[in-house]
Amino acid sequence: MRIVLLGKPGSGKGTQAAMLSEESGLPHLSSGAILRDEIREKTPFGMQIEEYVLKGEIGPQELITDVVFGYIERKGYASGFILDGFPRTVYQAEMLDERYRPGMGVLIDVPDDLIVDRISLRLTCADCDAIYHGTSRPPASSGICDSCGGKLEQRSDDNAGAIRKRLESYRNEIQQVIDMYRDTGRLLTIDGTSTPGEVYKSLKNATMNR
Ligand SMILES: [Zn+2]
Repeated sequence: MRIVLLGKPGSGKGTQAAMLSEESGLPHLSSGAILRDEIREKTPFGMQIEEYVLKGEIGPQELITDVVFGYIERKGYASGFILDGFPRTVYQAEMLDERYRPGMGVLIDVPDDLIVDRISLRLTCADCDAIYHGTSRPPASSGICDSCGGKLEQRSDDNAGAIRKRLESYRNEIQQVIDMYRDTGRLLTIDGTSTPGEVYKSLKNATMNR
């Protein structure tokens, strides 16, 4: 089974993909993690991508597509996966259909206001990258990471203005991808406003129990 998870930054799709991967046994392919791996392992793709990352850019969509496909091929994941963060553009969605056509695209739907609330209260550990939330998942002692004792901080781009800007550019690029899955009868939309556990129940129903 090939599944694409679609959702705004802050929709919780990474967490959901990890939970679904754990239970279904399908590999969780996060485009961000794949790119970081390639860079760390200094593969030819990794060296090309690093140039863009250093400039704070995502990189050309064709290059990202080649990297993701190369990874799927190399790891032998062609028959089943949960993709998170890819495709982001119509070009990428079309290429994916040609090569590894997904059976469904699952949109985890969360209104912008809730995303802003979630991210602007988000705290990240400077040492281990663990993520907390001011109200829904506070650390046991204020400002200190539960797992490693590191200092918790708010990332500089996690403020309301920057988040709304990210949501806007997300909308511009992803809406056509969502439409494409809808027009081909492969879009499933689930409500992403409740707790991760509740959202996961819906996701599981929409995918595994189908
Ligand atoms: Zn930590």
